Amino acid sequence: MTVSLLTQLADALRSGAVKVVDLTQPLGPDTPVIDLPPIFAASPGFSSEEISHYDDRGPAWYWNTIRLGEHTGTHFDAPVHWVTGAQLPENTLDTIPASKLVGPACVIDCSREAAANADFLLTSDFVQAWEAEHGRIQPGSWLLMRTDWSKRTDRDAFLNMREDGSHTPGFAPECVRFLAFERQVLGVGVECVGTDAGQAATFDPPFPAHNIMQGSGRFGLASLANLDQLPPTGAIVVAAPLKIVNGSGSPMRVLALVG
Ligand code: MN
Repeated sequence: MTVSLLTQLADALRSGAVKVVDLTQPLGPDTPVIDLPPIFAASPGFSSEEISHYDDRGPAWYWNTIRLGEHTGTHFDAPVHWVTGAQLPENTLDTIPASKLVGPACVIDCSREAAANADFLLTSDFVQAWEAEHGRIQPGSWLLMRTDWSKRTDRDAFLNMREDGSHTPGFAPECVRFLAFERQVLGVGVECVGTDAGQAATFDPPFPAHNIMQGSGRFGLASLANLDQLPPTGAIVVAAPLKIVNGSGSPMRVLALVG
């Protein structure tokens, strides 16, 4: 008798042969949000207000109202988030096919480079050196950039703002083009507050990870955690944002299956 793939998976989950790794940061009032120059509208962080807490307002139930920007904490960037993706089909959270919310992950470890240089940029040469060791990135894979930035639990250290803006690692523009058009990745995921490097406003094009990824119908995952628990290849990532009508992004629980 052949055992189906999913039955094997269920057995492996039960035995612990396949583990579920939580790639999500806690979401609360202390969750850092991106600091934009004051000429731009700011995104509110997370806040909540009780509706009732087993009291007069609801004797047997506890629940809250939450308020937050779509791009708060561990979250998803949909193509419509960037002006370059504004006219693409299936570019909003409610129209992205569910099949695109599950995919294999290629995890590139840049933690040493990011520790030595907060402005470290991933290049296509670095990616190809990784491929020489781990194999070619297959179309439809997430490219996850491990920097260990999520271990910076202090807000100031995480955002790393200086007078000239934020200093956090990210992608060189040519690398984003390489990943989008020569490797057809599903999207890129990072541990920082956004997919672009802290200094990416000065790049050509500005904010290349957003400009090129979203502009080619690809996705972004920001503020990921626990990437150090993933193998370079072989993990399956489930990154399913809320199905907000016309949504540009949403906080979410990102999970990885690791065998
Ligand atoms: Mn975002």
